[in-house]
Amino acid sequence: MSVLSVKNLIYGYSKGTPFEKGALKGVSVDFEKGEIVALIGHTGSGKSTLLQHLNGLLKPDSGEILFEGESIHKSKETLRKCRFNVGLCFQYPEQQLFDSTVYKDVAFGPGNMGLSAEEIDKRVRSSVAYVGLSEDYLEKSPFDLSGGEKRRVAIAGVLSMEPKVLILDDSVSAVDTKTEKVILENLAKARNGKTTILIAHRITTIEKMDKIIFVDDGKILAVGSHEQLLECSPEYRTTVELQKLDEQKEV
Ligand code: ADP
Repeated sequence: MSVLSVKNLIYGYSKGTPFEKGALKGVSVDFEKGEIVALIGHTGSGKSTLLQHLNGLLKPDSGEILFEGESIHKSKETLRKCRFNVGLCFQYPEQQLFDSTVYKDVAFGPGNMGLSAEEIDKRVRSSVAYVGLSEDYLEKSPFDLSGGEKRRVAIAGVLSMEPKVLILDDSVSAVDTKTEKVILENLAKARNGKTTILIAHRITTIEKMDKIIFVDDGKILAVGSHEQLLECSPEYRTTVELQKLDEQKEV
């Protein structure tokens, strides 16, 4: 059984107004236990909207999201179970950070789960190390950090809850290349059955993913590994070529 399944998802913003905008136009896709998945596609294609449905933050106009085979909107309990197990890290970490020190911020989630102080401490330290920050950061205020460091703390805050599914809504691609590599390597090493879903832009990241979901205009254009998509999707080949040129310019 897939850990998450999306069935024919349709969603529009600003319904019933002149600004009505169809963001997802019939999306179906499965996420398996332990895989690392990248969502790719142009800005505005619907990646973020899709991710926000996976932990119930947005409710579809029609269609279904199943977590471990059960519709997440079936009842309050199924939604709670989903929120508990599917950790979403927002695109803008400022939306997620709030406490006076990095330690307290990262400890907030596990604290809410009623864990022992010892377990919380263990999780805080290991999550902060995963995202490549030293222990010197623990007593700093998250608001005094750089944008990239804030992103790392926000990711650590979600990791510390040890969700079965970790969703990174553009938070990893927004850090520098070296940090992105560290975070992804740590996630891969410690995957331990955990599913990770992220938005990716850099080819060096995308080609390492178990599965790539190519989103285009609210629909899924192609799903598969880097090699499979190179073979079967001309749009993917073009995207890769263009992105490679962009990355060469960056260097
Ligand atoms: P992506 O993550 O691929 O950049 P999004 O899911 O953010 O795409 O956006 C999909 C479409 O929905 C875009 O046309 C975008 O302008 C629109 N959209 C996203 N968020 C909102 C919002 N809060 N209100 C109205 N339209 C939105």
